[in-house]
Amino acid sequence: MRYPVKQQAKNAVRKVVEGERFKYIYPCAECEEWFQDKEVQVDHIVGAGSLNEYSDLPRFVERLFCEPDNLQILCKPCHLIKTKKEKEQRDADKRKSSK
Ligand SMILES: [Zn+2]
Repeated sequence: MRYPVKQQAKNAVRKVVEGERFKYIYPCAECEEWFQDKEVQVDHIVGAGSLNEYSDLPRFVERLFCEPDNLQILCKPCHLIKTKKEKEQRDADKRKSSK
């Protein structure tokens, strides 16, 4: 499934490469290096959040689909680091709320 919003986010920041096999490069919002299309991922600046109960659903969907401003381009290593941090944060929140 493709998300046009994500493509828009990428189109907004891409740079044309002259004389290369790959046509566009994209800046990573984190390390500020430039990467080929297959090396970047479109990330939600604010994570889509957890989907634990029905009342989370509208917010979850809204964050997931409707917020181009909430998107940034990250290279894969930076995206992995961020995902890991977010998971740790979620786990910490869970521990707090289960007290
Ligand atoms: Zn990066």
